[in-house]
Amino acid sequence: MTCTHESFSGSVEVGRIIDKSPIEFVAEVTIHCDECKLPFTFDENHFAVSADRLRLRYKLKPATTVASNGKLR
Ligand SMILES: [Zn+2]
Repeated sequence: MTCTHESFSGSVEVGRIIDKSPIEFVAEVTIHCDECKLPFTFDENHFAVSADRLRLRYKLKPATTVASNGKLR
């Protein structure tokens, strides 16, 4: 039976780039389906930042293919 991807888990890691002045921060987000564990990928052409810049919205899709470099697309 094909998973319908109805529940998700993810993680957010925040890094500090200390060789920049002032120090910069980066966020790394990963998301996967709780049921089938398939990772989800981000669509780099469809994202938005809220007006107050506190929330990032990214279009997601289940990873379905493996590129020649072995990474999921
Ligand atoms: Zn799933």
